[in-house]
Amino acid sequence: MPYQGGSRLPTETASKLGHLKVIQSDWVKSLIEDFEYNDSDPKDESNTVWTEFDVTSAIPLPRIFAVDGSWVPVSSDNYPKKEVAFVKTALMCIDKTKLDKIDHENPHPLLLQDVLNGSALFHTTVFPLKNVKTPLGNNYTAVRHIIRDSIKVDQDGAYYETLKWLTYSKWGTGKPKSPAFECPHCSQVIPGLPYDADEALCASCKESVFLTDMIGFHLDMEDESASTTVPNTYMLIMETLMLLTAVRIFWNKQDKRLVSSCLFIKDGPLSLNSQYSKLVPALRDFFEHAKNVGRPVHLIGQEKTGAFADHLASIARFASPQHQDDPMTYSVLSHKYVRKEVYRQPDLANPYGSRTNWGEKLYVKLEPSWYAVLNIPPGLYNDNTNFPTSNDLIGLSRILATLPSLISRKYEGALYPIELANGIASMSSYPSAKVLQLFAKL
Ligand SMILES: [Zn+2]
Repeated sequence: MPYQGGSRLPTETASKLGHLKVIQSDWVKSLIEDFEYNDSDPKDESNTVWTEFDVTSAIPLPRIFAVDGSWVPVSSDNYPKKEVAFVKTALMCIDKTKLDKIDHENPHPLLLQDVLNGSALFHTTVFPLKNVKTPLGNNYTAVRHIIRDSIKVDQDGAYYETLKWLTYSKWGTGKPKSPAFECPHCSQVIPGLPYDADEALCASCKESVFLTDMIGFHLDMEDESASTTVPNTYMLIMETLMLLTAVRIFWNKQDKRLVSSCLFIKDGPLSLNSQYSKLVPALRDFFEHAKNVGRPVHLIGQEKTGAFADHLASIARFASPQHQDDPMTYSVLSHKYVRKEVYRQPDLANPYGSRTNWGEKLYVKLEPSWYAVLNIPPGLYNDNTNFPTSNDLIGLSRILATLPSLISRKYEGALYPIELANGIASMSSYPSAKVLQLFAKL
């Protein structure tokens, strides 16, 4: 607290950080000046180029699919503490004409029920995290089997079929092997499973390995415990597989135009990190193929947190629209922009997102107070620093024309289909924590 103003001496104003010794450093000083500086006339210094979009210039997409997931760790009270993780994912199919009739701020429960009726698919599973024993094998083996069985068993194997469809590029005419991966038994590299295989024997240790081992969950596990990365990544992989199952089913329909009339929405970025990025080349390849044969697949991911969401929040107020009736705008982020403006690391040698991303980023601002970070696949990756531009994002115009009818005003930057999927996949629809604890005791 500063000294209070007296009659003799001028009032002291306290710098929030001024008492720290470390401010003798010029670098720290400059940071603090920036931190404490109250800019009375703020402006956007990020060189963001916003483009106006006329919503009547493209036909909105009439069918919407949205996927979301959640997971929760549950511990027992006894000692040693046992811990399991429940994972839940949901895929919603929404008819846009029905959705349009609903008041997005105060949805009528009966109309909402009509939209949701029979339109959601769930997937749930449980992972042992700590001290949970099964006579069938140690935790490491248990998690590998649970992953294989849970992907395989649901919806008569439809999600597992999608994993195979992706792994073996089944939209094409080739018969490729699976990506290479580390053997879960001996850690030697397996050069890939033969085309369409569900399992095979490791050439080094002769033990059996599953197609689901290719994804790489075992690299995040030890003999007796699994890290929380496992349920979290399982959720991400299942969200992707469920959404791609909808894509695959529409892709294989007799009416070849149908798949291009859908908007597929995923909560979160279109990227997979570390060992899980093995699936990224196949995803890119599919979207490229679909584009090239004239059957574009419209898919978006929405990033609600992270570097891009923070950056957009800091600049959105400077962009149009400033008034309710102004046209919406968007800005496609080139790799150069991402490095320079979002991450402030312009000199990194490796191209942005080359291993991990199957979607590129864009900002959209639909209304003065509604803006969001979206990801859209471009097809194959391009390491040009000026890539992508608006022409590179698959189906950008139809996606933009669809967005205005999907926005929700309940949360900042919310999309109604994600909100609905989230409601179904969220913790509130889990059995109560007490029941989960009983499971953990078994
Ligand atoms: Zn092996």
